[in-house]
Amino acid sequence: MNTAVRFENVIRKFGSVHAVDGIDLEIEEGEFFALLGPSGSGKTTCLRLISGIDRPTGGHIEIFGIRSDDIPPNRRPVNTVFQDYALFPHLKVKENVSYGLLVRGVSKEQRFKEAESMLELVKLGGFGERSPSQLSGGQRQRVALARALINKPRVLLLDEPLGALDLKLREQMQDELKTLQQSLGITFIFVTHDQNEALSMSDRMAIVNDGKLVQVGTPQEVYRRPRTKFVATFVGSSNVLSPEVNAASGGDSNWSSLRPEAVTIGHEGAGRIDGVVKSVRYVGASNFVTVVVPGGQITAQVNADNDLPSPQSTCSLNWSNRSIHKLESDWCSRWRWQAPQAFGRDCPMCSGRNPVWSFFFSFCLPCCGWESSISVRYLHYCFIVYFPLTSFLA
Ligand code: ATP
Repeated sequence: MNTAVRFENVIRKFGSVHAVDGIDLEIEEGEFFALLGPSGSGKTTCLRLISGIDRPTGGHIEIFGIRSDDIPPNRRPVNTVFQDYALFPHLKVKENVSYGLLVRGVSKEQRFKEAESMLELVKLGGFGERSPSQLSGGQRQRVALARALINKPRVLLLDEPLGALDLKLREQMQDELKTLQQSLGITFIFVTHDQNEALSMSDRMAIVNDGKLVQVGTPQEVYRRPRTKFVATFVGSSNVLSPEVNAASGGDSNWSSLRPEAVTIGHEGAGRIDGVVKSVRYVGASNFVTVVVPGGQITAQVNADNDLPSPQSTCSLNWSNRSIHKLESDWCSRWRWQAPQAFGRDCPMCSGRNPVWSFFFSFCLPCCGWESSISVRYLHYCFIVYFPLTSFLA
């Protein structure tokens, strides 16, 4: 499979703000790829850099193997659907859709013919004579989609295109977008801060936070094996177990994630850890029961048909060992050089795999080795790795 878009150590700074901070990423041709992250994490800036509206302050982007540095936006095989649709209010729907062809000098007859077939594609056949103000939100969104597709881009960038729609329409459009992408076979890069949208629509997804990539993988990988605390809580609603809670419930002393659906509730003394019910939250098909345990709290997802414990009652929580997933610290995952499979040894500070750690502990610091205390390792780390590297990067 070809690489459609490749980021190589891409940086975009606005003054002191690192909107994109050293991103390395490959998006394959024909993929439905989601960029997921909280507001201000740098998602839109990534799209703007791909489209050419904005330029990186460091690193570079390749589109289908060609460095895009000097290619203007209108010469890139890319088109964008914006969140606010950006339709021209004074033009009819068919004129909006065919605008890209007008710019390229295509004849009026040909333009409108292609516009009609694009409108058919997005299920708006016969709407060409209307003005955008005579359409619903969902219909406007489809017009924006048809307008972006009429130039036959090889990569379609979608910047929170469903953000303005109500839940029902949003779900319907999610299905339609996915079906459309599969039938066209072009690469979709979809920006969203809605984790359900990213999980349900994408082939692969990247989690972005503070301008950095935190994790890339299929929805299943990201959901089941979140790399950091941030991913565990941002994608789904995982319990993040502190080393103390983990150890008290029969696990090892690491930070771990535990999905609420993997937790069962039983009588006091019957499970791994006892606690007191703090709250019961009803959300239709299931209930979320939050239980205070020594050192923290754990939420269990309970089927609506099951009996529920009452608030303030004592209960016991249980889960299987394979439901527990060990987490790296967010601190460790900030390393730009992190390449999880590179050396195959665990970072002694956080149990994650980190080549910088592995290098220094394997070759430079044999005297302290893996057995020395965390505080000794930390001191070595500060003086030999962290301070020199941060001054070098500054
Ligand atoms: P949202 O989901 O709210 O759209 P986002 O993840 O798309 O957020 P960006 O729009 O990429 O985030 O912005 C990333 C950071 O860069 C933010 O802190 C933002 O304030 C900053 N930023 C973006 N554009 C500019 C600009 N032109 N000048 C200064 N700062 C900017």
